[in-house]
Amino acid sequence: MKIIDGKKVSNEVLDEIKLAVQNRKKLNLKIPHLAAVLVGDDGPSQTYVNSKIRACERVGFESSLFQFDKSITEYELISEIEKINVNDDIDGFIVQLPLPKGINQENILNKVLPKKDVDGFNPINYGKMALGIETFLPATPAGIIELIKRYSIDLKGKKCLVIGRSQIVGRPISILLSQNKIFGNATVTVAHSRSNNLKEICLDSDMIISAIGIPEFIKKDMIKPGSIIIDVGICRVKDDNSLKGYRIVGDVDFESVYDKVSLITPVPGGVGPMTISMLLKNTLRASSLND
Ligand code: NAD
Repeated sequence: MKIIDGKKVSNEVLDEIKLAVQNRKKLNLKIPHLAAVLVGDDGPSQTYVNSKIRACERVGFESSLFQFDKSITEYELISEIEKINVNDDIDGFIVQLPLPKGINQENILNKVLPKKDVDGFNPINYGKMALGIETFLPATPAGIIELIKRYSIDLKGKKCLVIGRSQIVGRPISILLSQNKIFGNATVTVAHSRSNNLKEICLDSDMIISAIGIPEFIKKDMIKPGSIIIDVGICRVKDDNSLKGYRIVGDVDFESVYDKVSLITPVPGGVGPMTISMLLKNTLRASSLND
């Protein structure tokens, strides 16, 4: 079977978290509590936050949503974040990105208390991640690593190409896979929008992790036979046959590459579902660090 089934693995992780919550209840320990800060009325952000809250219900976590109008100032938002920082009932929280124009994302993420920063975007946790010190790993890279572990993929000495250098996916996963860790030790190349000869670099890679957001950009003639493909991209393409009028595809032309790869994550059902389960895993950890 060539498919790396992120939906299945994510369900396994969620079941493990649910069991851990039940055990905490038996021991009279605190029920983990995840909060989400949502600013403005961006549709996809609302959908992502709702699915995080639903996942909390599924595993037995408590959850809260702090929703603010897009007119909130940076100063006011910081003061709301400071209130959450000192709210002992909340173990971890996320600030749903992107934030509206006029609010400096960096300033906001800087204010999230590191021990509650279950997204791993505060510079302290991000720095620890880069140094290989145990911390909250950003959820999407953590999800990719969980898939690598659960599918026993040995990347030691393998050529791994990460396409995309965003702070939430490309950069952290490139750092993590090059580290001397059981899931790492790969020879990592990072490509981005200014890279030359991308096809050549792809053809020389044992694994490609694509996080660019261009629908079906990676074609069959760009990949080496037997390579492993991790497709992070989530792109909407017009589809008149679908009730919604669109369908979701990844960065990789799944149909055309399928015969050539040894393993591949589908979109949807690959990396996507892992992101939420790893966020919840970070929250469970945040809660147990308070025991
Ligand atoms: P981004 O949107 O911030 O940036 C895109 C990156 O792609 C940039 O680093 C850019 O240099 C690179 N890029 C653009 N065009 C390129 C080209 N022609 N050749 C090579 N590189 C190119 O990145 P992001 O926030 O990591 O998002 C990337 C994709 O991953 C999006 O589709 C997003 O929706 C998806 N995503 C999925 C999850 C998940 O849970 N599965 C999580 C985060 C992001």
